[in-house]
Amino acid sequence: MRPPGMPTRRVDAMFSGSMSSLRSANVRRLVQGTFDVLVVGGGINGAVSAACLAARGAKVALIDKGDFAGFTSQQSSNLAWGGIKYMESLEFPLVRKLCMSRNHLIRSYPSTVREIRFYAVHERGFRHGLWKLLLGTWLYWLIGNFFTKAPRLLGREAIAREEPIIALDKSDGGFEYSDAYLHDNDARFVWNFIRGALNYGCVAANYIESLGSTKDDDGVWITRVKDVTSGEEMTIRSRVLVNACGPFVDTMNVESKQPTEHAHVFSKGIHLIVDRLTPNARVLTFFADDGRLFFVIPMGPRTCIGTTDSRVDSPVTHVTDEDRRFVLDNINKRLRLPKKLTEADVIAERCGVRPLVITKRATGKGTSDWMQLSRKHVVEVDAKTRHVSIFGGKLTDCLNVGEEIAAHVQDLGIPLSYPDARWYGEPPEQTRLEFLHQAEPFQHSGIRSLEFT
Ligand SMILES: Cc1cc2nc3c(=O)[nH]c(=O)nc-3n(C[C@H](O)[C@H](O)[C@H](O)COP(=O)(O)OP(=O)(O)OC[C@H]3O[C@@H](n4cnc5c(N)ncnc54)[C@H](O)[C@@H]3O)c2cc1C
Repeated sequence: MRPPGMPTRRVDAMFSGSMSSLRSANVRRLVQGTFDVLVVGGGINGAVSAACLAARGAKVALIDKGDFAGFTSQQSSNLAWGGIKYMESLEFPLVRKLCMSRNHLIRSYPSTVREIRFYAVHERGFRHGLWKLLLGTWLYWLIGNFFTKAPRLLGREAIAREEPIIALDKSDGGFEYSDAYLHDNDARFVWNFIRGALNYGCVAANYIESLGSTKDDDGVWITRVKDVTSGEEMTIRSRVLVNACGPFVDTMNVESKQPTEHAHVFSKGIHLIVDRLTPNARVLTFFADDGRLFFVIPMGPRTCIGTTDSRVDSPVTHVTDEDRRFVLDNINKRLRLPKKLTEADVIAERCGVRPLVITKRATGKGTSDWMQLSRKHVVEVDAKTRHVSIFGGKLTDCLNVGEEIAAHVQDLGIPLSYPDARWYGEPPEQTRLEFLHQAEPFQHSGIRSLEFT
């Protein structure tokens, strides 16, 4: 069995046959008996919910209408970060919580969630002065319990020497601080939770779409689902229903006639992938023309540039010419490249919406301060119907979401026999070394490892 957290494509190649027969078996199991919990949605929020509940002893089913981690959770910036930008909106409790979550992830996933330096350039005339921002990074470091390397001030000469591709004509210097990076990438990170849930008996199947849920006379949720691959329809019975459909949470609640106080609005973000721009394994950080943080992120042999933040009405989006221009213009202004980047340099694009949570009362008025809308998650529980909705959130905060959902499900009357079971984290170092030892022969088989250098 593959130890959780092992980041190699060759392992997936080895397992692909058994995975498809496991899916078929699990689709058959979905219709048998009554589950304690059905989790709808296999992005990060659904994956951690299933992993925590299954490890703690609940009988869990998990479905997704597409690939697991195939929607928002594969479109992120791959950062586990303490939310330094929320310091500007004085959301210190959120920053503290995210910093603690980031530290916890770094400790739990030493080979895949690793500290990375953010190399930030300051332009003269920006709304905050250089020294004020540097002070902010020291405060950020303090809020994060000094867990990472200390921030440092960057003079123009140091920047020119260390990152010669940065254009310095408008800059009076910069600063460097730390956060963390998902070296394994976001989708693989999510998949490891699903793999973990399967290990604890969770019945998980992708390409199973929920068409809505109703309650029978005994108060059991009956969820009508469709196997997207065959068109076959069936029903899944569960005592508790967890709606983890990300940007589709509201649609799903409407389908299930489940009223909620909260709802989502959507912020679209895109990234462009180009050939590697700098050999250094650090995130170059700028303030874009709209004043937002803007990143040049190392991604294996490539560089990922972004992101944007524009309000959209639908979760289903695509990269527009305007988005592309915004990213390319911003980067071309801030880097001294031998040749300006154009659309022809774009190897791949990533595009998703951040599901941002608002209270329904605020709809239409409280959303005017768009950039300031909080990125925190909210779990809304209806004890009468035994229904749980997960709104918003971040990959960074995922371990808290898993723990919270398990606590709510227990409060809803589902006994968890193993309340202290550890459901996340990489296996001990010895297991990792043994795995790499066993995988050694495959290194010569021509299948390339995905491990980052
Ligand atoms: C551009 C961008 C950058 C980001 N960067 C970061 C970052 O660096 N760090 C960070 O921590 N966070 C980041 N985020 C936020 C983070 O990616 C999201 O908050 C998180 O991935 C949302 O996860 P989710 O599980 O709620 O939703 P999703 O990942 O969208 O999962 C929901 C799942 O539900 C499924 N589903 C929907 N309807 C149904 C149905 N009817 N039946 C069955 N399944 C259904 C979907 O197929 C989907 O897989 C970023 C987001 C964006 C858009």
